[in-house]
Amino acid sequence: MPVSAHKLLRELIALPSVNPAFLPGRDDLTGDRRVADFLAFTADRAGLELEWQEVFPGRSNLLIRLTPAGGKVRRRILLAPHMDTVGVDGEARFKPVVKAGQLHGRGACDTKGSIATYLAALLELAATGERPRETEIVLAALVDEENNQSGSRALVGSLVGRDSVERSEASAASISGKGSPRKQTRFAPASSVGKWGSTESHPAMTADLAIVGEPTLCKVITAHKGDLWLRLTTHGKSAHGSKPHLGKNAVHAMARVVEELETNHSATLKRRTHPLLGHATVNVGFIAGGKQPNIVPDRCEILIDRRTLPGESDAGVFAELRALLRRLGVDAELTDTKNAPCPALETDPNLPLVRQLTRRAGQRRALGVDYFSDAAVLASGGIPSVLLGPGDIAQAHTADEWVELAQLERLTRLLVKFLREQP
Ligand SMILES: [Zn+2]
Repeated sequence: MPVSAHKLLRELIALPSVNPAFLPGRDDLTGDRRVADFLAFTADRAGLELEWQEVFPGRSNLLIRLTPAGGKVRRRILLAPHMDTVGVDGEARFKPVVKAGQLHGRGACDTKGSIATYLAALLELAATGERPRETEIVLAALVDEENNQSGSRALVGSLVGRDSVERSEASAASISGKGSPRKQTRFAPASSVGKWGSTESHPAMTADLAIVGEPTLCKVITAHKGDLWLRLTTHGKSAHGSKPHLGKNAVHAMARVVEELETNHSATLKRRTHPLLGHATVNVGFIAGGKQPNIVPDRCEILIDRRTLPGESDAGVFAELRALLRRLGVDAELTDTKNAPCPALETDPNLPLVRQLTRRAGQRRALGVDYFSDAAVLASGGIPSVLLGPGDIAQAHTADEWVELAQLERLTRLLVKFLREQP
């Protein structure tokens, strides 16, 4: 039987799935397991196929498949929301509350609202027997979007390196089946796969389109900015504060760097624009240096957030900043503090499937947003990706997160129509 997205979302909010990175030691509130088990149970009862992809011990992506009526897969559409949420200020956030046509609770829009609408659409197609003949629809409920996007990286086979070796060597907490068959796959050590390769047991996902769940007010988004977090450290020479001429002041050098970044460099980036995204930006978000008034500081550090446009590469950003430091005559160290690339997203709005979806959403053209998402990771893995979900990003990550019930219903209808149109 079809189930409404509203009902599914109430259940999902009541199952805490805070990303463990935000609430260490709170197993009762963190992890994706409760949500994944609920989705698996619901999908299994509707006769959908399930597959598990372990990403960390005890944390797995869940793939729910609506296989094509004709048996042969000629097209695949991926629905990719994430199961993890940001933290909470109190456990009341896990109690779904309806007020004035809005459903409140942690994850309501980011992105349990998307999970609920995607699953409701899938259950409706399954129940009415109106599945496409040649198109497979896969709902991939992903882990860890809010931290390192490890779920989407694993899905397209780009999660390799030291971490994955540790993960594969750690004794995996076995995931016991509960009423549903589980195909279990694990990651191989990095040595057995190429840099962007996939594991033998779980080939990289391919699809003709990925619809990624983020709160977009039910609008199709084809572009978003990329993101680099950098640490910049200046080194000087300490000396007694009464004899500053004998030292080299690392804080003074940094002051010049910060001034340059926030004025001239920022102005340069403002002139670098994209039709859907506006301009690139830089923000100095943290500074620390020196110990006390009577010592010339020998070290100062800043943290930089640099939002990139499509076409800007990490290497290009590094080169640009190194040139800036050379111009200032400042000797500094520059390092990337994220352990995975976060490039900008730019999907061709004229791809037939993207146009079809955009038309279904009642838009004349596709739009762009500022924030980073799993879509860029899937796109880097070769899957044309867009964002489309209920709710407003303005409510994401806030203490009182909510979604309009009307949007849940509207998006479910939109998806059912779009998916039914597939061959
Ligand atoms: Zn988020």
